[in-house]
Amino acid sequence: MNETITADSDTAAFARQELLNWFKTSARAFPWRHDHDPYHVLIAEMMLRRTQARQVVAVYQRFLHLYPDIHHLDQAPAEEVASVLYPLGLAWRAVNFKLLAHEIVTRHNGMVPREREALLALTGVGSYVAEAVRCFAFNEPAVIVDTNTVRVAARYFGFTYNAESRRRKPVIHAVGCLVDEQQPASSNYALLDFAAVVCSAQKPEHTHCPLAACCAYYRKARQQTTSFTTASGNTILEEGEERLAYEGDDIC
Ligand code: SF4
Repeated sequence: MNETITADSDTAAFARQELLNWFKTSARAFPWRHDHDPYHVLIAEMMLRRTQARQVVAVYQRFLHLYPDIHHLDQAPAEEVASVLYPLGLAWRAVNFKLLAHEIVTRHNGMVPREREALLALTGVGSYVAEAVRCFAFNEPAVIVDTNTVRVAARYFGFTYNAESRRRKPVIHAVGCLVDEQQPASSNYALLDFAAVVCSAQKPEHTHCPLAACCAYYRKARQQTTSFTTASGNTILEEGEERLAYEGDDIC
């Protein structure tokens, strides 16, 4: 899995622009999307880890109503925080929220830090959450790398990947090629939404995809596709064995 990854600049620029265009009409609406308060962004991103966004909405709103700033969260009883977060599962998350709140109050004077290293030093904050906070709260040109954004980059640029790929520098670079550093928040949200809605793990919508013209995965799949016309005149595409084997490389 150490192949060379080629992401030429024209192909990358095409994808960045098409993703932003697509996002203008297809963005998913979530309450944390238009709120750049660093505390709110941090809470949303911590809740979103390993959890479906639609599950998070009601809990997120109730949580911020009860704990409108980091000091309220720091002073809240641990059992109460755990019960608010209970619908999301993952009991350790409540413990992390309390520890993290106390660290921000005592080490950072109640302010969510902006620097990557300071964010990573907080309990429960990994690379994904740190980059998301830098991007969505501070408008830094960060790149959000997870299995979903790696999947889009891998299909589009045509490289194979597995669960560990997101830690490889060439893979991180390839995902970064899909993000416009002048518009990091919109661009990262566009890529996340596109990965969920169009280039999904199980059912990518190739024929409605704005990136299809330059997509290596689609090009390869089409080369292995045969078509036939039904009695009613509809054209049916039937994809070949080799493409199915290629899809079998997907890990999510
Ligand atoms: S053409 Fe298909 S594989 Fe390529 S980016 Fe679009 S949905 Fe993903």
